[in-house]
Formats: sequence, C-alpha cells, structure tokens
Amino acid sequence: MAFCNEHFLELQGAYLFAEVRKRAEAYKKQHPDADIISLGIGDVTQPLAPAVVEAMTKAVAEMGRMETFRGYGPEQGYMFLRKAIAEGDFKSRGVDIDPSEIFVSDGAKCDTGNMQEIFSDTAIVAVTDPVYPVYVDSNVMAGRGGKFVNGGYERIVYMPCYEECDFKASLPVHDPQIIYLCSPNNPTGTVLNRKDLTQWVRYAKQTGSVIFFDAAYEAFITEDDVPHSIYEIEGAKDVAIEFRSYSKTAGFTGVRCGYCVVPHALKLETKSGEMVSANELWDRRQCTKFNGCSYIVQRGAEAIYTEEGRKQIQATLDIYRNNARVILEGVKEAGLHAIGGTNSPYIWLSVPEGMTSWQFFDFLLDKAGIICTPGSGFGPCGEGYVRLTSFNTPELTRTAVERMKKALKEIK
Ligand code: PLP
Repeated sequence: MAFCNEHFLELQGAYLFAEVRKRAEAYKKQHPDADIISLGIGDVTQPLAPAVVEAMTKAVAEMGRMETFRGYGPEQGYMFLRKAIAEGDFKSRGVDIDPSEIFVSDGAKCDTGNMQEIFSDTAIVAVTDPVYPVYVDSNVMAGRGGKFVNGGYERIVYMPCYEECDFKASLPVHDPQIIYLCSPNNPTGTVLNRKDLTQWVRYAKQTGSVIFFDAAYEAFITEDDVPHSIYEIEGAKDVAIEFRSYSKTAGFTGVRCGYCVVPHALKLETKSGEMVSANELWDRRQCTKFNGCSYIVQRGAEAIYTEEGRKQIQATLDIYRNNARVILEGVKEAGLHAIGGTNSPYIWLSVPEGMTSWQFFDFLLDKAGIICTPGSGFGPCGEGYVRLTSFNTPELTRTAVERMKKALKEIK
C-alpha cells in the first residue's frame, strides 16, 4: 500500500473559489431563470489587446513553417521577453534587474505556490490575514502548516489586518523566514506605500527573512507614492522575490503567462552556514519541473511592451478602473462602508450589521442575483466583509450596482 502525503489532509474545506462556484451553481439549479451577475471570482471579461492577438497569430504561423518552427524553449523563458520585461517593467522605473534574474512562467499562481520549495521544510511562514489562499495552502501541503487549530495553522504566523490600520499588517512578533506580502492586495484592494515597504525591507534585513512580494495587480496602481515593484526600495534585492502576472494586466487568465524575479543578490543559508544563491536554486527547480511557457504566448506577452500594446491594455484597464469606481460609489450610496478600488480591481465591502460574510453572500445572490466572494474565506479577519471585483462589462457592472442598491434598501 502506498502512503499518502498526510499534509494534504490538513487542508481546510474546499478551495474558496470552488466553494463559491458550487454554491452559485446549486442556486442556479434551483432558480433556472435567475439572471446572475458575477462580481465574485476574479476573472477578466475583456478580450485580448489587438497587438497581442497579432503577435500570437504571427507566432502560430511561424510554428507552422519548417524554417521557423520551435520545439522546447528555454525553461526560464525566451530572452526576447526577459529583456522586454527588464526594460519595460523595471528600467523604466529606475530599477536595474538583469534578464537572468527573470523567470517567465505560466502564471503567478504556480510561482507563488511553488517558490516555497527552495526553502527549508522547517521554515516559518508569515501571511497576512485576510490572505490569498494559495500562500497558505501550498505551505500546508509542504508540511509547514502543522495542525489546524482555532481557525489557523499552528506553525503559520498570521499577521492580522484590521480596518483601524488600513488593512495593513504590523511587523510579526515571532520572526518568520518567509513573509508573503501582496500589494495591491487581494482581497482588500489596499496598497503598501513607499514607507510601508521600506519598513518591511528593513525588517527582512534585520531578521534574515525573505519577502515574497506578489505584485499581480501592479498595473492597477494609480497613486504616485505606491511602488510598482519592491525593488524600488533600496536593498530589496537582498531580501525579496517578486511575482508578476499578465492575467489581470493584459487579460491573460486563459492564455497563461507571468514571471518572477529572483535576484542574484538573494542568498539562502544551509544548515552548515554556507550561503547559496536563491536564483540558482530556482533555476534548478524550474529546469527539473517546468518546460517553459509556450513560444506563442511569450510573443503575445512581448507585444504588451510595444507602444501600441501598452496603449491598448491601458484602455482595457481603464474599463475595469471605471467599473471599480462605479461599484465603490454605488455601495457607498447604499450606505455601506467599502475600501479598495482605487489602486486595485477589488472592492472590500463591510457587510450590513448582524450578518456574516456567507450570509451576505446568500443575501446578494438571492435578492440581487449577484455573486460576491465572502471575506471569511480569506481568513478570520475577513469575516464581516465581502470582496467585489470590477472584472465585468460596464453594462453588467452598472446593472449589478443598481440591483445591490435596491436589495439593500429592503433591509433598511
Ligand atoms: N496572486 C494573486 C494575489 C492573485 O489574486 C492571483 C489570481 O487571482 C494570482 C496571483 C494568480 O495569477 P495567475 O493568473 O498569473 O496565476
């Protein structure tokens, strides 16, 4: 008999978004005529930019000709894209990242979930509460969670984020080795400004911890004081790994492409006190377990960095930004308290008094035909909130907001 990895048995319930989908489907079965609008799962709705489609079409044609056909590509990504990233995402902001520090992948979920593999299985992990569930679950699977007691894993350090502190975490009391930070944040939509990030980089240096900086929503930043990359902070290359995604930036949720930056300066320690390069470990990991993102997709991603591509994706991002504004204004008009939506596609909404997150989820589904994501699914501090997303068409967003306002009037 083969033994299972029992760490998997410590995982709690169904994956949040799967649970949301399951409940919504059950409702649709009972109410087949219900007209439901999803402001729940964070998937995009707008099509790819024409420049991206054109580049991918050209790449497909190349694949169909003997002279230009390509088989396996480099596991780290094609140099044309790594150079475009170094130039377009970093040099343009005064940050010097070498293409050899960039690893192209099929998205940030895999990267944020897999990066923990190059760390010791005894490493202490710190996450914010509420949190994007992938950070926690991937560490639980690897055995860093311990038992689930009183709403949390005993070996994970939770950094509660309360409304009084703008949903920003304080420095942890017990020093962890890995710290997950997400800015702009999923689910709260809040951001870490230059001062906040400087404090985190300083802390990581002092304690020898490594920051996993998830910047999947970087493209939504509108305020000047909010860094787009943690490497805009001096010294961050010694202590941080950054994750980026084209999913929300350029509608790549179904295309699949993202990247992470593992700086050469970042060193990890062996038990015998030797220092090893995190970049080399990740390179070895990727070469063993990953065969690269497709050539066609990487040509599509490269097109985002052209002048035309950049303009086109900004036009799409403006649609989502405007939707976020419409939602934020609408829920405020309905008398609810909400934050986010300014530097983020997410609006973090306080549920009406006396309701839990899941009760409000059921209320919105039943009375307004709206799907949201219950905040409690992101951690105990998410109880009392739901997350709404701006990833819908302007028409459906407006309809959803009107329906929400009407439904909320009824409970007043
Ligand atoms: N990181 C955060 C914070 C996310 O919210 C998401 C997707 O929802 C991801 C990473 C995953 O992105 P990708 O589609 O690139 O895998």
